[in-house]
Parts: sequence; C-alpha cells; structure tokens
Amino acid sequence: MSSPTKSPYWSELASSLSPYVPGEQPKDRKFIKLNTNENPYPPSPKVIEAIQKTAGESLKLYPDPSSTALREAVAKRWSIKSEQVFAGNGSDEILAFAFAAFFQSRNNGESAEPIIFPNITYSFYPVYAGLWDIPFEKTALGPEFSINPKDYAQSTGGVILPNPNAPTGRALDLNALKEIAHAQEKSKKVFILDEAYIAFSQGPGLGSMIPFINDFPNLLVIRTLSKEASLAGLRVGFAVGSEELIEGLCRIRDSFNSYTVDRLAQAASAAAILDSAYYDEINNRICSTRERVQAALSALGFTVIPSQANFIFASPPASSISAAEFLAALREKGILVRHFKQPEIENYLRISIGSEEDMDLFLAACKEIANL
Ligand code: PMP
Repeated sequence: MSSPTKSPYWSELASSLSPYVPGEQPKDRKFIKLNTNENPYPPSPKVIEAIQKTAGESLKLYPDPSSTALREAVAKRWSIKSEQVFAGNGSDEILAFAFAAFFQSRNNGESAEPIIFPNITYSFYPVYAGLWDIPFEKTALGPEFSINPKDYAQSTGGVILPNPNAPTGRALDLNALKEIAHAQEKSKKVFILDEAYIAFSQGPGLGSMIPFINDFPNLLVIRTLSKEASLAGLRVGFAVGSEELIEGLCRIRDSFNSYTVDRLAQAASAAAILDSAYYDEINNRICSTRERVQAALSALGFTVIPSQANFIFASPPASSISAAEFLAALREKGILVRHFKQPEIENYLRISIGSEEDMDLFLAACKEIANL
C-alpha cells in the first residue's frame, strides 16, 4: 500500500513535516546488512541472562519511570552521579526531547536565534528542528568533510554535533570539543554532543566527553546502546550532563510518556553497561576490521574518508559506475549499504562494518562490480 502524502484529517503540523527515512530492514530475503550501522556481534551473554531473569510476572507492573538501575550502572561505569544521567527509548528519543528542552522554537513567528549543525550530518537533526519549529543553520564542511570547531564557537541558539560525525566518520579531538562547549557556555547555550559512534573512536586525543561534564554545565552527551552494545533491537540510549540539563529532559519526558524504557530494556541495558570487558573486545575487533577494509578499498581505487566510527564513507573509483548504481549492483549480490541523496555526498556510500566474513564477501563483490 502506498502512503498518502496529504489528508484533510492531518493537523497543520503533521502536514508540514518531512519525516526521517530509516535504512531498509529487509523482510523478504536474507542480505548481508551493511546499511544501518548495527553491530555484527551478538550482545553480551549477561544481557540475555538479565532479560531471562526479568521476563516473568513482574511484567504486569509498569517499569521504574526513572530507570534507576540503568542510571546507576551508567553512573558507576563513568564515576558520576546517577542524578547526572537520563535514560530513554533509543538515543533518537532523547535527541527529540533535548531539542524541545534546550533549543528555542520560533514561538508563533517570533524570531529565535538559530541552532547550528554541520551541512553534512545525521539527517534526523533537521527533522527534530522541523517538529519543534526550531530555526537552524547548516555550516559548510572543509576538505574531506572536516569540521572546523571555530564555526561552532560563535554565539547562536545552541549547537548539536555528532562525534564522530555521521555519515562521514570524521572525529573532532577533545580540545576542539572543549573549545565549543566553553564558547557556548559563555552565552549560556546548550551544546548537545551525540556520541552514537564514540566507542569506535580510538586515536590520540580522541574520546568521550563524559569525563568532562562537570566542567561544562551546558554540555549534554548522548549515547546509544544500539551500536556499541549490539542492542539496536532493544531501543535504549542515555544522556549525561549537569543535573539541571537532566531535569530539563525529565520535564519533557513527563509531559509525553513517563514509561519510555520497559522492564526488559532496563535490566538488559544495565547488564550491558557493566560488561565493558565483553564490549571492548568486540568493538576493538570492529575497529581492526575497519582498518583492513579501508586499506582494501583504497587499493581498489575507492576514495576513502578516514573513519573513527563503525562504518566507512567511500566513493567508488572514478572509472567505475556512480555510487547510486554501485549500491544497486551490491543489492543484486545480496549486500545492502547506504546512499544519501544530497549533492555534496551523492558519489559516496556509507558501509557499516560487519563481521570479517561479511566484509570479505563485500570486498569481493566490489572488485567484481568495478571490473577489477
Ligand atoms: N545519532 C546518530 C548520529 C545516529 O547515526 C543514530 C542511528 N541512526 C542515532 C543517533 C540513533 O540511535 P538509536 O535511536 O538507535 O539509539
């Protein structure tokens, strides 16, 4: 059934939206899925144990609305207070709440200072801005999609950045992030840092800003368990920041749905957060596969943007077919990758890092398609 594009029953708001389009989740045939940045390895056995223990009669009761055990697990792991942690139904939900809690909407035509984010970034940000009617400006990127921190240090309505950026995989170092947080704090504006892929960011000077939240009361760090904890199917994310930012998020959540994280998800994600030994091992494996595949793609003539995430952003050799055609040819061979219809990146593909075997099949398919 094709979806209608307008209806007399829709509110003005529903009619005005341009919703986010998620990557394909195929139902009809088995594909090698390198299109939605899922982790190729299974969740920790401790996660499954926690779900089995919780799957009982207690499901007749509502879950803890403030996800205490999960927040305490985050607090323990990063040596912060549980009052500095917020839990949500995937980081997408927390992002939606954060836009509403910390960025100003136009308020019936009155002007509000625009928030800023990169020209090429997570395509959900303009969607949330549209939902809450928040004005925004997009900042151009430098060579090889690099981000200049100076562009985000000016006075604005606030800043949102993913680090590493998606879909480019480029990361800013901690000094650059502190510079942005400091400049925004001077004008009392919030800096939302989306660390969806930070577990795969291991170079010198790189890493999570969670250890610095006490230095910046305006810094909200958002994490997801979807990629780094192999739990995309569970839908859990968390945010870390000053108690006043966390309270801002609670005000929005409790005006929307008080029980956003269910009992199974709370128990499972607390177990995941405390099993860092398991996850460090699988995520290190993903990083070494990424380095190998980047080198192999460069050797095949692809332009490869050096990635700090669990995906690679690469453009097929100039002598080959276009990126959109390349995606279609890979699909024919049973391999899904992602392509974004935006002029600056239309010749690039985003390739999630799968298992070693999946990536060998992917590289063999690329060789064939490019006639090498
Ligand atoms: N931020 C970024 C940059 C992402 O790529 C994604 C995944 N699409 C998310 C947030 C959302 O992750 P989730 O809702 O699965 O936690």
